[in-house]
Amino acid sequence: MTPETNSVTAPAITPPQRVLLGPGPSDVSARVLAAMSAPTIGHLDPEYLKIMDETRSMIQAVYSTKNEMTMATSGTGSAGMEMCVVNLIEPGDEMIVGVNGVFGTRMRDVAERSGATVHSVEADWGQIIQPDAVAEALKQHPSTKVVGIVHAETSTGAHQPLVEISEMVHAAGALLLVDAVTSIAGVELLVDEWNIDAVYSGTQKCLSCPPGLAPVSFSQAALDVMDKRQSKVQSWYLDIFMLRNYWGGDRVYHHTAPINMTYALHEALRIVLEEGLEARVARHTLHHRALRAGLEAMGLSYVPEHSLTTLNAVRVPEGVDDAVVRKRLLSEYGIEIGAGLGPFKGKAWRIGLMGHSSTRRNVLLILAALESLLAEQGAAFTRGAALAGASDVYAPA
Ligand SMILES: *Cc1c(COP(=O)(O)O)cnc(C)c1O
Repeated sequence: MTPETNSVTAPAITPPQRVLLGPGPSDVSARVLAAMSAPTIGHLDPEYLKIMDETRSMIQAVYSTKNEMTMATSGTGSAGMEMCVVNLIEPGDEMIVGVNGVFGTRMRDVAERSGATVHSVEADWGQIIQPDAVAEALKQHPSTKVVGIVHAETSTGAHQPLVEISEMVHAAGALLLVDAVTSIAGVELLVDEWNIDAVYSGTQKCLSCPPGLAPVSFSQAALDVMDKRQSKVQSWYLDIFMLRNYWGGDRVYHHTAPINMTYALHEALRIVLEEGLEARVARHTLHHRALRAGLEAMGLSYVPEHSLTTLNAVRVPEGVDDAVVRKRLLSEYGIEIGAGLGPFKGKAWRIGLMGHSSTRRNVLLILAALESLLAEQGAAFTRGAALAGASDVYAPA
């Protein structure tokens, strides 16, 4: 090796141990990291195909669906969004999208790029999409093919109810597409019972797996619509018709599956199902309640009226420097939280309690750290009230 070559060699990476309490990724358990380091085998190896089949069954369980067309898309949550939209939409189709934050805005963009004529149903950031507004849009645009909506709007913390909207969408003869990136394995999500036709998520939020795969699922009604397409799906990589032959019976090579990511997701799903979906949702609810009691005791107010349990968006108190607090949380405590986006830039914090990160230890840690930093910044509140508020939730008198 020449000295020149040597001089560009980088040292081995040494990422620090963080406490991930932002909008994702969340903390990944040692079991999942260990699974990732198992030997890489071929993507058509019978042993790998078995792992894929098990992964698919476990995704079905976590989505509470029997949909056969359920799989993990290669790519992050946004790839799942794109996969759902490009397979359902043909140029000229009409689509209604609920827009009340970053991810509804992104879905609208993807739909427009796919050639859809998009009708937005908007709500202020932090608010949910009102069923009446969806009903009105369906009335105005009766040939709407797909209605897309975000179940858990991670940019604002809003928790969108879906049941009533689903009934309206189906009564109008359209399909319901749901972004479940921050709800899967964290809040209740019943794909079959709620009649969701297409759903996508990511691995790095409440599944507590590194980012890299996007579990998706399609109902028979959605597949029937796709079977009637006149035009080819615009994306070769995300074309369900070809991928069906790999995830389905024929195992035809399409693209090389991210083998070790599948190991990670397999282990993450095992952990979710060992805990049980109901117990997991209850755990997220408990730690959210404790965090909320603590934050409110320090005078912090929530952005959304209907808050997710997995993502807590709170306003930065008057006179407190948003960036300084986040920077010191990271450098002095090793804690990552999220900044506000869009209209909430510099004005809100997004504290995630997702999957492996949703623990009593983390709730008490972030409250203690925030209390100390906010006091230094001169915020007025009663010292000790935050931890007392959280403790009362854990051990009611
Ligand atoms: C994180 C997120 C996405 C995008 O996922 P990536 O993994 O970042 O591509 C989409 N929708 C919602 C609601 C999210 O929280």
